[in-house]
Amino acid sequence: MNARAPERILYTKPSITELETRYAADAAATGWGAKCYDYIIRFEDLFRTHIGTGFAIATSSCTGAMHMGLAALGIGPGDEVILADTNWIATAAPIHHLGATPVMVDIDPVSWCLDPTKVEQAITPRTRAIIATHIYGNLCDMDALEAIASRHNIPVIEDAAEAIGSAFRDGRRAGARGAFGTFSFHGTKTVTTGEGGMFVTNDEALFNHVLTLSNHGRAKTQTKQFWPDMVGFKYKMSNVQAAIGCGQMERIDALIARKRAIFGRYRDHIDAIEGVQLNPEPSGTVNGAWMPTAVFDRSLGIEREVIQTAFSAANIDARVFFHPLSSLPMFTPRPDNVHAWDIPTRAINLPSYHDMTDADIARVTAVVRELVDAANQRKHNQLKGSAA
Ligand SMILES: *Cc1c(COP(=O)(O)O)cnc(C)c1O
Repeated sequence: MNARAPERILYTKPSITELETRYAADAAATGWGAKCYDYIIRFEDLFRTHIGTGFAIATSSCTGAMHMGLAALGIGPGDEVILADTNWIATAAPIHHLGATPVMVDIDPVSWCLDPTKVEQAITPRTRAIIATHIYGNLCDMDALEAIASRHNIPVIEDAAEAIGSAFRDGRRAGARGAFGTFSFHGTKTVTTGEGGMFVTNDEALFNHVLTLSNHGRAKTQTKQFWPDMVGFKYKMSNVQAAIGCGQMERIDALIARKRAIFGRYRDHIDAIEGVQLNPEPSGTVNGAWMPTAVFDRSLGIEREVIQTAFSAANIDARVFFHPLSSLPMFTPRPDNVHAWDIPTRAINLPSYHDMTDADIARVTAVVRELVDAANQRKHNQLKGSAA
């Protein structure tokens, strides 16, 4: 690399301190035999208390938590599950694996989350659930979704993988409202265990069902050895991973505060740039700010490829906004989901990790500003050209 090239700014990176490494080392040294579940139980308790739900089950991934939750709700062949076209594949894959059909609907152009009107229009006699993904930490309109769901007597599920730290007006946290909520502790997420996830619910029967599913179908109350009561899954978290999670949960307020501070710095810089929108944060709500994302106004004519080229030239690891799921080869294209298909063509995820400096943030926003300045210059030249 050129010696004078600026240092690479990564997209995300976990915040790991002496606390997490000490707990992980302790779990590796002592967390066996009678103590083999100690960190798991503690992590579940810390997480459940933070989110504000009665029950939590640590899993090997968010995808696994979603798979078991949907299975416990009885979703299977012939059923339809509504979700936003703007999503990570992890939300749709479990629906597919259960033999049900993911029905992808358009997003609201402000929240980038499910448009409740489109949800209502997509409901059929086969609809069995709505999955509300709080994308990039932005909150879905849960009041509207819950009203639709209760009219049709179906559950709303929250995929809160990206919404640690996000909270509704009434103070409830993302993930605590749905029939169940799911979280991810993948290395890119606000809280990490390397890989991992969590299933949360207030429904004790659903909790017990998923607990059984998560342990090869063996019910907690089953006294016979090696006696599964149903065909289950194996989506458990290890004690060593949970130990890292315990360290993260002891630092949860600081982890969220830092993500929000980075988002705030971005807002300070970018709110002053006309034609660029960052994640919304409606008054009274809290955006956990997992992923600060910039959307350029269509009128600027700045395309995704140009944005990506500018960031890679500045040695900044910025990422594309989620492609609409329905544009992927294994699904039926739904270009009528206009916002889900349009917004990614003129948007970018900005780097956001705890150890970023203000100078790093300034370098990122300088690229945003240069893109807008160049677009305005281009428009200006075109006007002059047509006037001459
Ligand atoms: C990260 C993510 C997931 C998947 O999490 P895993 O732990 O990798 O399974 C699911 N949904 C959304 C919205 C995500 O961002």
